[in-house]
Amino acid sequence: MHTSLLHHQDTIVAPATAPGTAALAIVRLSGPDAIALCNRVFPAKDLQAQPSHTLHFGTIRDGDDIVDEVVVSLYKAPRSFTREDVVEISCHGSNYIVRRLVQLFIRQGARMAQPGEFTKRAFLNGQFDLAQAEAVGDLIAAESETAHRAALHQMRGGFSRELHELREKLVHFASMVELELDFGEEDVEFANRDDLRTLIRDLHRVIDGLIRSFDLGNVIKNGVPTVIVGKPNAGKSTLLNKLLNEEKAIVSDIPGTTRDFIEDELVVGGVTFRFIDTAGLRETQDTIEALGVQRTQEKMRQASLILYLFDATDTDPAEIPDVLATIRETGTPVVPIANKVDQLSAVQRSAFQSIADLLFLSAATGEGLEALQQRLLATVDLQEFRTGNTTVTNLRHYESLLKTREALDQVLASLDAGVTGDFLAMDIRQSLHHLGEITGEITTDDLLANIFSKFCIGK
Ligand code: GDP
Repeated sequence: MHTSLLHHQDTIVAPATAPGTAALAIVRLSGPDAIALCNRVFPAKDLQAQPSHTLHFGTIRDGDDIVDEVVVSLYKAPRSFTREDVVEISCHGSNYIVRRLVQLFIRQGARMAQPGEFTKRAFLNGQFDLAQAEAVGDLIAAESETAHRAALHQMRGGFSRELHELREKLVHFASMVELELDFGEEDVEFANRDDLRTLIRDLHRVIDGLIRSFDLGNVIKNGVPTVIVGKPNAGKSTLLNKLLNEEKAIVSDIPGTTRDFIEDELVVGGVTFRFIDTAGLRETQDTIEALGVQRTQEKMRQASLILYLFDATDTDPAEIPDVLATIRETGTPVVPIANKVDQLSAVQRSAFQSIADLLFLSAATGEGLEALQQRLLATVDLQEFRTGNTTVTNLRHYESLLKTREALDQVLASLDAGVTGDFLAMDIRQSLHHLGEITGEITTDDLLANIFSKFCIGK
């Protein structure tokens, strides 16, 4: 557990809400002087004398000047997010007011918070472990139901609990083996080697499961990399626009919502699909002259899903199987799509019937779009995720898990080789080290700086 409270004698301030005009904004202070600083500019009452977890209405004054009417929320250490004294000021959502408040508190002696500093303090003060702190960032960034669920599970400690239990067991063995060393020449064995072997195998299984879950976790967090290929004029950009506009239309149907659309990301059934290299689709007509072009091949290999689109009014059905075979050489799953069916007679349509899994679509009218969305979703196996198993979504965790597995393999090899206790203890410690990196039992300043600098100011 970290006891770094003493290192944080300064009080930090930052806006906790995004810039822009809104009904309300929040300015947050954390640190030993948070309440005193606020008290000086809040004449309505003595905040120092108020109990924790209370709300106070009043004005914030800069000298004689009223800056805003606000509601102050008080959280006294350690019952706050950072475990320090925290004051949150809900003011009117004007950039000007927020700026004035932050400047006012800086003049009073607070310091502008660094990116992620509130969450970093929460971690350093033992509010949660590192994996949970990282999940706070993921939760805020989550744009889909599945990403939200994975982040929430991690933030609430599901993943950490699992790792913690594993680590405890290993620590126990490490100390048993180390105890043997204290007995030097005497031939004692506190740590039963067969039990250790069983434990390592159990750990291995769990770690392997977590490592495997990253395939899905990565997709949940970053989206399924998808590429649309086909000859010029097949309707690729029309299809992409249709898909994206459909989503925009659904979201903007909800009154009062605005959402920043990420170019070329589509959320279907709670899963994000990320279309690769779509700029080319929109801007030029000749991106994919031939499917054999190396750049296209490369794109198809990088993707997790290929939509192969052809103009059914202008394509000989006999060509399709060869094209599909070429695409399948990339090893990436493909959905074949016959486009422009609005222009197709029933007879023409039947000529394509023998092509397996072919989807009939009109990117122009939207016919077949729902079936396509179902097909997209079917490519992602959410079964494991739905059953509530922990899914690793963070690349850093994934890498530490790989190193843990390697270290566990080394422990097994050492056991097989019958090495002496001191070497065995070293191998076990190595596994513990990599496991500890994930939850933050083992950290370095660089690692922390790297993680928290990716957060926004105010988090
Ligand atoms: P791309 O080169 O593959 O990106 O093709 P575009 O999306 O630019 O489409 C080429 C032409 O086909 C455009 O004139 C589109 O309006 C038209 N088009 C695309 N999809 C359909 C469709 O489903 N039905 C019809 N009738 N025309 C379509």
